[in-house]
Amino acid sequence: MSGTSYTYSQQLMGTTVSLKLFVENLTAVSAVFNAIEKLEARLTVNRYHSEVMSINHAAGKQPVAVSKLVFDLICKAKAASLLPDSKFNLAIGPLVKLWKIGFNGHSIPEKDEIARRLTLTNPHHIELNRTNQTVYLAKAGMEIDLGAIAKGYIADIIKLLLAQYNIFQAIINCGGNVLTIGYSPITADKQWHIGLKRPFAEANNLLGIIHVEDKSVVTSGIYERYFIFNDQLYHHILDPHTGYPLNNELHSVTIISDNSLTGDIYSTIFYGLGIRQGLSELKKKQNIGVIFVTRDKKIIIQSNQHFTFELTADDYQLISYS
Ligand code: ADP
Ligand code: MG
Repeated sequence: MSGTSYTYSQQLMGTTVSLKLFVENLTAVSAVFNAIEKLEARLTVNRYHSEVMSINHAAGKQPVAVSKLVFDLICKAKAASLLPDSKFNLAIGPLVKLWKIGFNGHSIPEKDEIARRLTLTNPHHIELNRTNQTVYLAKAGMEIDLGAIAKGYIADIIKLLLAQYNIFQAIINCGGNVLTIGYSPITADKQWHIGLKRPFAEANNLLGIIHVEDKSVVTSGIYERYFIFNDQLYHHILDPHTGYPLNNELHSVTIISDNSLTGDIYSTIFYGLGIRQGLSELKKKQNIGVIFVTRDKKIIIQSNQHFTFELTADDYQLISYS
């Protein structure tokens, strides 16, 4: 074990973004945070202006030309939305804006309004023109929302940026999205140790530790942004078929993958699939590991190829498949 670490944090993308390095390189650090700020400004839907918002403002009117970076992400997000049984939907915007979960003014919407907005969330109605690099939302009122995947996409770009500064050992944490680069110089096993959070508990209260090297670890959970009304919990991952928060046996899904965009997409998809379908779907995927945390205190792990998990909570039962 060797090495001093240098940690830097900033409030960005609606969360605390932290970067840990093992060399002191303030030029790289400011390049990273500047890049995140600029990327967020292009992808966000939580401000009036952004590249994605320019598409949304033109819904039902005209196609909008966007940068390659935004176009590519929208292509990938549309493809993920069209996978069989996918509950990931990039056109979910009108419902996210209606519920406002995790933002001020959240409330339970009227059934009729949910039904009306559901008609504005068909991913087939997002028309992509690769030649002109344009995106057209075919119905007025449609809105793209990349909130589930923007952080992962940005983390992958930051990894490439760090490489330009010859930094090949680092960890980027965007609140629930962790990207580890290279191996860890500060642990005996050279693995990065990432905590798996206990649902609805304080941040330092963990269920266990994930050991990985050069991987992304992304968690989608229902305990980060939610509200409770009449004893019912309403969280921020919406079911694109019902318009209500996805209701199943899970508290969280963690995906271990090579890149963070994949992790971000699949954490939402596997949350939506649930355990049974998720596990059978996972058999078809080589490069993904998954950790399901259930409401009834089970931790279900599939594939130990890329990581090991050390259980620390004695009130949880660990079930592991490989
Ligand atoms: P976090 O905000 O903690 O990173 P997630 O990655 O799980 O959470 O993404 C949740 C966000 O994704 C929501 O706040 C919303 O903007 C968007 N979203 C909600 N439901 C869906 C869905 N079914 N498909 C795609 N995006 C969604
Ligand atoms: Mg996500």
